[in-house]
Amino acid sequence: METIQDVKTRVYKFGNKTADGNSKMKNLLGGKGANLAEMGLIGIPVPPGFTITTEVCTEYNKFGQDAVVEMITKEVEDAIENIESIMGSKFGDKENPLLVSVRSGARVSMPGMMDTVLNLGLNDEVVVGLAEKSGNERFAWDSYRRFIQMYGDVVLGMKPESKEDIDPFEEIMEALKHKRQIELDTQFTIQDLKDLCYDFKDAVKKRTGHDFPTNPWDQLWGAVIAVFNSWNSGRAIYYRNMNGYPSEWGTAVNVQAMVYGNMGDNSGTGVCFTRDAGTGENLFNGEYLINAQGEDVVAGTRTPQQITKIGSLRWAELAKVDEAERAALYPSLEELMPEIYKELNDYQQKLENHYKDMQDMEFTMQDGKLWILQTRNGKRTGAAMVKIAIDKLKEGSITEKEALLRIEPNKLDELLHPIFDPKALSTANVIAQGLPASPGAATGQIVFFADEASKFKASILVRIETSPEDLEGMNIAKGILTARGGMTSHAAVVARGMGKCCVSGAGALKINYKNRTLTVDGHEYHEGDWISLNGSTGNIIEGKVATIEPELSGEFAEIMELSDKYATMAVRTNADSPKDAKIARSFGAQGIGLTRTEHMFFEVDRIKAMREMILSDTVKGRKQALDQLLPMQRDDFEGIFEAMAGLPVTVRLLDPPLHEFVPHALAQQKELAEEMHISLEAVKSKIVELEEFNPMLGHRGCRLGITYPEITEMQARAIIEAALNLKARGIEAKPEIMVPLIGTIAEFESQEGIIRATAQKVFEERNDTIEFLVGTMIEIPRAALTANLIAEKADFFSFGTNDLTQMAFGYSRDDAGKFLPIYIEKGILKVDPFEVLDQEGVGQLVQMGTEKGRSVKPNLKVGICGEHGGEPNSVEFCFNTGLNYVSCSPYRVPIARIASAQAAIKKQG
Ligand code: PEP
Ligand code: MG
Repeated sequence: METIQDVKTRVYKFGNKTADGNSKMKNLLGGKGANLAEMGLIGIPVPPGFTITTEVCTEYNKFGQDAVVEMITKEVEDAIENIESIMGSKFGDKENPLLVSVRSGARVSMPGMMDTVLNLGLNDEVVVGLAEKSGNERFAWDSYRRFIQMYGDVVLGMKPESKEDIDPFEEIMEALKHKRQIELDTQFTIQDLKDLCYDFKDAVKKRTGHDFPTNPWDQLWGAVIAVFNSWNSGRAIYYRNMNGYPSEWGTAVNVQAMVYGNMGDNSGTGVCFTRDAGTGENLFNGEYLINAQGEDVVAGTRTPQQITKIGSLRWAELAKVDEAERAALYPSLEELMPEIYKELNDYQQKLENHYKDMQDMEFTMQDGKLWILQTRNGKRTGAAMVKIAIDKLKEGSITEKEALLRIEPNKLDELLHPIFDPKALSTANVIAQGLPASPGAATGQIVFFADEASKFKASILVRIETSPEDLEGMNIAKGILTARGGMTSHAAVVARGMGKCCVSGAGALKINYKNRTLTVDGHEYHEGDWISLNGSTGNIIEGKVATIEPELSGEFAEIMELSDKYATMAVRTNADSPKDAKIARSFGAQGIGLTRTEHMFFEVDRIKAMREMILSDTVKGRKQALDQLLPMQRDDFEGIFEAMAGLPVTVRLLDPPLHEFVPHALAQQKELAEEMHISLEAVKSKIVELEEFNPMLGHRGCRLGITYPEITEMQARAIIEAALNLKARGIEAKPEIMVPLIGTIAEFESQEGIIRATAQKVFEERNDTIEFLVGTMIEIPRAALTANLIAEKADFFSFGTNDLTQMAFGYSRDDAGKFLPIYIEKGILKVDPFEVLDQEGVGQLVQMGTEKGRSVKPNLKVGICGEHGGEPNSVEFCFNTGLNYVSCSPYRVPIARIASAQAAIKKQG
């Protein structure tokens, strides 16, 4: 049995320009803890505190609360003492109390995922001491009120009972506001705040059956354990799964001396970014609130002010606030507190230079003194990610390799989505304007609740404000619209991290959750109504807006060009039409790695000829039908070869089971019977005859070409004739003909024979030739095991990792959807092996196939064309295995190009 180890350090202290840890210790201290330590070391003023390591979280999950508390009590007591001596106050003391914050901090930042408790250490007696010490009774009771509220929510589970209900504490506050006929929190009297504290505690007792804890140490342990528990909350698990972070990482806990932004008009709190997280523009920006605590800025319940004057002017323009009003009511920090602004500006530059990346910082001003509470590499959109990497490169602060490694390949996906057509935008009906919180174009149907985001195929989540509970719905929705909140609200930060279009703080919206309505200017919109959001301008538009394809230009084009300098493994595309081939080429595809010819047979004008071919019982009948298909196939190939002129094009022979082509609806069966002059019964019986128990392992792949050689003959002819036609027009075609689903060399030989003989015939007929290759897919484990025999004959290999995964795991591709989600939920599999290549198992077959193939043909061309060819981790594996190329869908080509370059850079070291 495993037992707790006794020797290691579990609590790391920081403060007063010293620290036990540093920024390299993210895995152990979490991102926040490591950065707090580092900031302390480089002279940034951080409130003193300590970090309980992520390992303790893992130990907690294994051994439970009692064992872990016992294990770290001594270290935590020492660390609290250290804070006490730096701050000159005492935890739990009635006269000179030290209060602390307790926050989570995983190794990567998970914004809004984990819980925070502020002002911990207060009780009915300490609050009196705090009032005396600060000389500010209002501040003391406001802090206590906030503490009970946060602790109640995070540690004691005081949540709304149903989704239409508001927070139980907010409900009490609303009732008091109503009674007192006031609107704002700031209008509460000191007596009101005292009443709220007592009412809050009563509510806790009523709901939980227990008194609110009064002993500060009990409060501290409760909060620490709640942070550990939040690692396994539904939303944290969802976020981890969404980003592929393993559950073993755990979260650290950061306990820090409180500093106060709510101590009056010389205090405040804010969030800032060293560059624009939406566009990447090199402009310091952020928001703050005077006389407030951190949660007020992020929660979006008050409209925050801008930090810089330029930001404030831009905001006023969008919010339609005139200059006199802006300067009087919403001045920037730069104007209001120039000294503090200057200091903050110095720190933001220092931190960005130190970390060489855009920083997202939190700060608090307590009675005119500035404290930095947190810094981290800021979440950003795909566009900002690319621009910042290129700008930092041009500024000379990072190298080309570093710039490339800064790109998260999957985030490029955002830049490859359609954007609003400027023509359509010029005539769009803009119904309101909010803040451009996260760029992008989104059109969808209104939903008001995050858990209903999947109600429509495309939905826009419309909320007064969002909270971490909404994460899953935010991810599903096409766009997010909130009535409250600034550019640093929860909705904005999370949306930018996801690259999801978001418009926030649209104050003109009146949202009624109970009636499920959105009212703007007297016009009412309902659930299911279509709206569009322009995340780059903040415009909210009625109805749908047309979109156009994005382009690879500007910094995006620059980073892609740079990737070519380092990538050695090529990227091809899977494309079945000239249109797809053109798109892929515009994204930099270096050829086609897979053309699935069956897709061409499904089109309306061809399916009939295809069905006739399948249903005829004689070779003659089949040949007649194939003769009709030949010119169509030839035209298709000509189009594709032309789009890829000069580049290799792998064309795969027919692969899917024939029964996929037969009509299943009675009307279509009748139509077919008439056209073929046969009885309906004959059609039906043929369909029954073609039915298979297990089509994925049935009559498909090269088995079709072996049983019906005339199909292979027709396809080979169409390919060769198309290439010759192009040659006659001066266009170079480079066909690579690929045989699917072979398990034995004899299967390959049979097909290769037909292909080469057909090509020879066409050359003689045309009195001309072209060069072409004949190779095979390796997608049956037996083919990988006998790859040395196959390579004797095949010109190239392409790993079909979709089928290879299916057959290595024994999971039917058609049925895996029924159990894979449960496997992932239960941790039996970490990821879906059809999405991310299983390097441990299936990967061995790829390595073996490549090695065995090259053992007889050292220069054998080897690629991959399963879905994994566009998945960054799998691309890296392919590079390390020595593949010549990966092939993926057109829209993933840029992602694979960056992944290929990164793999090469990582290997060089
Ligand atoms: C494969 O099996 O990986 C493959 C590319 O072929 P298909 O998906 O068409 O079976
Ligand atoms: Mg396959």
